[in-house]
Formats: sequence, C-alpha cells, structure tokens
Amino acid sequence: MCPVRFVTYLSNQSTLLTPLKVIDKMGTKMKFLAIFLILIGCAGTLYWLKGHTAPQLIGKAYFSIKTDKKIVALTFDDGPSVPFTSDILDILKEEGVKATFFILGKHAEIHPEFVQRIYQEGHEIGNHSWSHARLIFKTPAFIRDEIERTDHLIKTLGYTGPIHFRAPYGNKLLILPWILKKMDRPHILFDVIAKDWEKPSPHIMTQRIMEQLHPGAIILLHDADENNIEDRSYTVQTLKTIIEAVREKGYQFLTISELLKEDTGS
Ligand SMILES: [Zn+2]
Repeated sequence: MCPVRFVTYLSNQSTLLTPLKVIDKMGTKMKFLAIFLILIGCAGTLYWLKGHTAPQLIGKAYFSIKTDKKIVALTFDDGPSVPFTSDILDILKEEGVKATFFILGKHAEIHPEFVQRIYQEGHEIGNHSWSHARLIFKTPAFIRDEIERTDHLIKTLGYTGPIHFRAPYGNKLLILPWILKKMDRPHILFDVIAKDWEKPSPHIMTQRIMEQLHPGAIILLHDADENNIEDRSYTVQTLKTIIEAVREKGYQFLTISELLKEDTGS
C-alpha cells in the first residue's frame, strides 16, 4: 500500500488519530511532504535515542549516581591491552585507587593474565561485550551471545565479583535494554568523558574531567580500543595527574558496585 493511501486507511481507524486525519485532508504533494518529514523525524529520534547521553527507555541505566558525597568511579573500557593495562594497573596500585575495567571478551581471551591481575589487585571487572559491535539493530540472540560469552570467560578466569555491563559506544535503543532488564542488570554508562581517544594533552584531558566532575560521577577512560591498535600512552601519562586533581577537590574513588550502593536516587 502506498504511504498516502496507508495514511488514509489509518486515519479512518480511530478518532484518536487526529494528526493523521489532518494529513489525510492535505493535497497529495503535501501528504508526501508531511510523511517525508515524519519519517525524517522518526529517524532523527532513533539516532538520538541510540546515543550514550540519551535516556534509556527500558530498565535501569546509570550515567552517574545521586549523592551529596564526594565520591566518583573511575572506569576503563576496551582492554585488556599490552602494555597499557599493565601501566594503568601500576599507577592505580601506586596511588591506592580502585577502578572498574569494562573489558572485551575477545581481548580477555588473548590476555587472560591481565584479567586476573585486575581482580587480584582489588579492581572490579565489567563486561563491555565480546567484539565491541554496536548492539543496536541486532537480533536478541546476537546481543545475548555477546554478553553471555564474555560473562562466561570472566568467570572461567576466576573472577567471582559482580559483573556490570556497559554497551560499546554506550549505544542502546530497545532490544539491549530489554535483555538487560530480563537479566536483572542495570546498564552502567558514564557522564564524565575525557575523550582520551582524541589523544589530548595531559592539561586538556585533566581539564575536561575537572569541568564535568560532580558527586556520584562515572568517569570514562580507555586502556585500549576495539582493535587494540591505538596508542593509549596519553591516558597512561595523564592518569596520575587526573587522580591527584580529583583528590585535591576532596573526592574519593570507588568501584562501580561500591558507588551504586551510595545511590540515593532509587
Ligand atoms: Zn568501548
């Protein structure tokens, strides 16, 4: 059925479809224009909804937590990788900071020793999918497999703590949130972004974090990238300065699980 006739059909179905009745009374050219604009609007809305800053429509998502306490979580995505995960762990140990590493299954499979080092040194491990594929417009079976394969590997490597999930690129829409809700897992996003993938100077990277910092914030950094080809030495070089600057403002670093326990908003 052509779009114009489809609108006519729908507008006859219910008195609730008033906007469609309005369109139905337009001339054919105007009808096509109105339908075109509606489709553009729907596509734009979908594009916005998939983004990491858009609200999640199903289940619980945390971009940060609600609290008055000066507490934040430091998170690292996409690892483990050589040598950056190890360099970051050395700095965290030196500074006495506990963080959360959202790892990729495909990288953990290659570097299992770093997964073990992460949890043996008191950090938390999160699931960032197996392959870093965008988990939108994918089948439920594909999305489940990305999550469950990674969970399984993390557990096989001896980790017994909570495994939180963060989608690649923070992309979501409807199917992933629905699956997470069925798994009774919140979606852990972030709201302080250093954009360390742009390889900014230590000054710019620290400034970006400090400008966005607030009680309950979740800070996003990277110890790798989806293909383990990017240089993360910029993040490594800046990490100590970031930790010192955040502490200087009176903040304390917690893991994601510790931070969620402090949430006063739910
Ligand atoms: Zn990622």
